[in-house]
Amino acid sequence: MVYLDNASTTAVHPEVIQLMTEQMNQVWGNPSSTHSLGRQAKSAIESARKTIAKLIGASSNEIIFTSGATEALHTIIHGCIEHHHIQRIITTKIEHHAVLDTIQSLKHVEVNYLSVSDSGEINYNELEKKLQENIPTLVCLMHVNNEIGNITDLKKVSHWCAQYQALFLSDTVQSLGKEIIDVSEVGVDFLIGSAHKFHGPKGIGFYYKKKTLGLPSVFKGGDQEKGLRAGTENTFAIVGMAKALEIAIKNLAQNQTYLFELKEYAKSELLEKFPETIINGSSDAASHILNITLPLDDSKASMIVFLLDMNGICVSRGSACQSGSSKPSHVLQEILPDNLLKKPSIRISFSYLNTKNDIDELIIALQKI
Ligand code: PLP
Repeated sequence: MVYLDNASTTAVHPEVIQLMTEQMNQVWGNPSSTHSLGRQAKSAIESARKTIAKLIGASSNEIIFTSGATEALHTIIHGCIEHHHIQRIITTKIEHHAVLDTIQSLKHVEVNYLSVSDSGEINYNELEKKLQENIPTLVCLMHVNNEIGNITDLKKVSHWCAQYQALFLSDTVQSLGKEIIDVSEVGVDFLIGSAHKFHGPKGIGFYYKKKTLGLPSVFKGGDQEKGLRAGTENTFAIVGMAKALEIAIKNLAQNQTYLFELKEYAKSELLEKFPETIINGSSDAASHILNITLPLDDSKASMIVFLLDMNGICVSRGSACQSGSSKPSHVLQEILPDNLLKKPSIRISFSYLNTKNDIDELIIALQKI
């Protein structure tokens, strides 16, 4: 099996598995219990929080653990409306559905969608103009797009948001551990992480919030996470997430170089074997995502992922949570003309575990289809 779907999820790193297994055996107390077993679990959580905070240039009290990115996004978006009296959200139609659907479920909030170019580039001028309107605003712009890999200029957006007193949330799920993020330099108000995207366990994530900003807890109950997220913490997963992020950031530069090489190889091989292949998104997209439209018959569009799977190749058409859908991806819908939307498109996404041989196997499979 060739796995080229690392933007959907990644294999858990062996060191993370080992650490989590040890913790399950030894640190299983309830972190809220005041006895020694509880305190041991609490200390493991606090040490993980410190590690994560340090890795992104934050303070420990700015990191709040959640069940993943979806919960984190929901908490921040709803919390900003409730607590910061946000009246308007500025975003784009190429965000992840966890953002788009949360925003669409809101009542009494104006939503402005920035236009994007046919390579998925955000219209930054439009953003600055809208921010000048002086309406209490939350800007939601993802750092790395999960389907086409485009990278948002966080510094530029943060700068304008600070200048016009808007709050800035960036969905950093696809960039954390893959791009350098230092909140003390970037100045973003909220960002998020989901461990399974960087070789950690599933069902655990966190959000960063500037310490000066308050947010209410979505869940009521216990006082965990300083009252910001009720519910017994998943100690093992939290510890595993911190370890996974530590490894990812330690190897970030080396992995990025390796993945760019793989991506270039994939592009050149695809263009040689299928000369009319179209590379979707920006030419300087992130190293781990390559989105292509193939010059194959339109009839193969909805079956392409299945046909590749039959040949031992795992890729996806868009985000994993939409993969059962026969509709074209909402991101490609925003950037491609109708004739290309009908063609088969796939997202190939890499990790350090992939090799050029995986790309050769993908090409062989595509040639059989
Ligand atoms: N945001 C982006 C950009 C994603 O790629 C994903 C997962 O695919 C999510 C949010 C949601 O993450 P999770 O399913 O871990 O909550």
